[in-house]
This record gives sequence, C-alpha cells and structure tokens, in this order.
Amino acid sequence: MSKLMIIGAGGVGRVVTFKCAAHPEVFSEIMLASRTKSKCDTIIADAAKATGHQKLSAARVDADNVPELVALIREFKPALVLHVALPYQDLTIMDACLETGVHYLDTANYEPIDEAKFEYSWQWAYQDRFKAAGIIGVLGCGFDPGVTSIFTAHAAKHHFDEIHYLDIVDCNGGDHGKAFATNFNPEINIREITQNGRYWENGEWVETKPFEIKKVLNYPNIGGRDSYVLYHEELESLVKNYPTIKRARFWMTFGQEYLTHLRVIQNIGMAGIEPIEYQGQQIVPLQFLKAVLPDPGKLGDNYVGETSIGCRIKGIKDGEEQTYYIWNNCSHAKAFEETGAQGVSYTTGVPAMIGAMMVLTGKWTGAGVYNVEEFNPDPFMEKLMVEGLPWNEQFDIDLEV
Ligand code: NDP
Repeated sequence: MSKLMIIGAGGVGRVVTFKCAAHPEVFSEIMLASRTKSKCDTIIADAAKATGHQKLSAARVDADNVPELVALIREFKPALVLHVALPYQDLTIMDACLETGVHYLDTANYEPIDEAKFEYSWQWAYQDRFKAAGIIGVLGCGFDPGVTSIFTAHAAKHHFDEIHYLDIVDCNGGDHGKAFATNFNPEINIREITQNGRYWENGEWVETKPFEIKKVLNYPNIGGRDSYVLYHEELESLVKNYPTIKRARFWMTFGQEYLTHLRVIQNIGMAGIEPIEYQGQQIVPLQFLKAVLPDPGKLGDNYVGETSIGCRIKGIKDGEEQTYYIWNNCSHAKAFEETGAQGVSYTTGVPAMIGAMMVLTGKWTGAGVYNVEEFNPDPFMEKLMVEGLPWNEQFDIDLEV
C-alpha cells in the first residue's frame, strides 16, 4: 500500500487517476496535482464516483518550479511521482524526486521548450544521482514509448535469439468528427511530427524529410492506411539495448485531410515556437494554436474506431529466420465509456499506471534511470491483458515493411 502523486491533469492524467483509483490495494492514497487545480478537482470527483476510492485529493503545483514541487512532495510523502504533465517538466520533477528520495515515472522524454528536440541524454545524465539516492526513474512508460518497448523486450526474451529488423507501427483508425485535432497535447504533437524523420540502419541514424517515406500498411480490424516514417524516442534506447538490431523504424498513420491542415498551419507560421510580438505582448504561435484547437482530453464523445499499435519484427530463433507481429487494438468508445477519455489518452495512461504498480509492488526494482525494456516484461504483459489493453501476437507472416 503506497501513496502516489500524479502530476498533470490532462487527458492522460485523467486515465491514470481512474486506473490507479481502481487499485486501492496498491495505491492507498492518490494526489493529483497540476497547474490548474479545478481540472484536478473534476477528475478526482469523477474517479471517486467511478471507483469508490476514499483517499483521492487534488493540489495546485507549478511543475517548472522545483522548490514548489519539493514542498508538495514533502507534505504528501508519496512513494512515487507519476509525471503526465508535459515533457518540458521532466527534469524539474526528476530534480524534486532526487531531493526528496521518491521514485519517478514518466511517459515522454525531456524536450527543451525553446527547441523541438527530444533525446534521452538529459535524463540518462541522472543515472549516477538516482543510483546514489537509491531511487528508480522509469522513463517512457506510456504506449509508444512504453508498451512498444516492452513488446520488443517480450519478443527478445521469448521469441528471438537476435532481433534484426524492428518496425513500430502506430495507427489511429479512429474518427472524432472534427476537421482537425490532435490526440494528445497539440503543441507537443505538432513539434514531434513536423521535425525531420530519422531511423536506424547499420549502426547509424539516417535522416529523412518529414513525411518523406510512405507506405500503405494493413492494420488488424482497420485495414490499409497511409503510414509514414518519423522519428520516435523509443528508437534511441531500443537500438542501444538491443545491439543486434540492423534497422529500426517508427511508422505513424496520417490521413490526407490531417496532412493538408498541417501544411497550412506550417505555411502560415502557426507551428512556430519562437515568440513573436503581438499587440505589445510576446506570444508563441504554436501555443496560441493549442489554445484554439480542440482539447484532446475532450475528444472522447462520439469518437469511433480503434487505435492499433504494435511491433513488426524479423530476426533469428534457433538458427531459423523468424517473423513476428505483436499488437494491441484499443477502441476509443470503450476507453471513453470507462474513463471519459479517448483511446490515445487511454493507451498512454494504462501503461503508466501499470509501470507505477510494477515499482510499488516490487516487480521492477533497482536504483538508477531505466528505459522500460530494461525491466522484466512478463508481469507487465500480464497486467496489460487484464487492465484494458490486451495484446495479440502472430508468427510467420508478411510484415509488409
Ligand atoms: P494535456 O496537454 O492534455 O495535459 C497536460 C497537463 O499538464 C495539463 O493539465 C496542464 O495543465 C499540465 N501542465 C502543463 N504544464 C504544467 C506545469 N508547469 N505544472 C503543472 N502542470 C502542468 O496532455 P496529455 O494528457 O495529452 O499528455 C500528457 C503527457 O503524456 C505529455 O507529456 C505527452 O507527451 C505524453 N504522451 C505520451 C504518449 C506515449 O504513448 N508515451 C502518448 C500521448 C501523450 P493546464 O491544463 O493547467 O495547462
């Protein structure tokens, strides 16, 4: 029985709070803290009603401010801080965890606010300090990164002697009925997909222009969808932790309508992250755009269809070539029915809850910072099956990639 502090009251924070509150035997007390306390109050009230958990509370915190975080952590005394605010806050929250000796878990790697660049170096640099403090930092425990990394660890442990080719395939086959909306924080999402793409081949990174490599891939229960290679953070740790990988790529589906909107947004300068002067005030165009786009946390109503995310792997088992596909499909409507949030928030929040559960029940142990594929995948894979994200696997198939 442990106290948990969740930071970030967005779509993902909502799902994490609901799923953790359903397990009072692990998470005996839960505090949800975020920049706007009223958002925490709403989520806490809804989660208490849905689960009957008696010890849920809300607080306001500015997670960019280490002394504020430290004061709140000292007051509440959680065993773990589960961070689902924004990637800009990774380092300040890690600093606060170090200062208070509390475990840390997140779902996205650090990004400096003034540069659209994401890599693990900043967080891996905490390794020695987390070790010395005897605390665990679990990095990237959403779906991708997160489950995709654990799917790879599961494949490596049970089905391959060597993994040679890894293609992570992420399809949102859902329809929210809006002309344009992103499924998680629009600022983070647009920064991610408008960057150059990158994939790993024969020991080096190959750079591509955004949306340069396209293929129609078939997704279970969804069908064929235009899929594009883009850079995604789990590639960095996976090629390090599985050095037999010759090529690793990440594919994501985008519809033509989405890409047209995105092109216009970029062409008119609304994707810019440099502040501009507007009526005597400094504003960041992308942050302004976020304010007028639909809130991803509120997309759930009438969202139909499914997400399908998985790993397509080729390698060697017992001297023979092996092909393997492991995936999960998640229904937006079912996610909404259970938590009031759409499938992308759900597929991120459920693994974050399971990761926290793994640490707090002693299934994942150690001291230092870890990417999730470094832990034993088995207990996590078991929990996925019963916590709303069941997975499927298939051998000897045409991987299409
Ligand atoms: P939202 O924008 O919906 O929510 C983010 C929340 O964080 C908001 O409630 C916001 O508060 C709060 N917040 C922002 N800055 C601060 C701050 N300085 N201090 C305290 N709280 C703050 O995002 P999502 O819920 O969609 O995503 C949450 C995280 O999950 C993101 O980091 C995203 O990158 C990650 N993610 C990971 C995925 C994966 O598969 N690994 C997939 C999808 C998302 P306010 O509302 O007041 O602004």
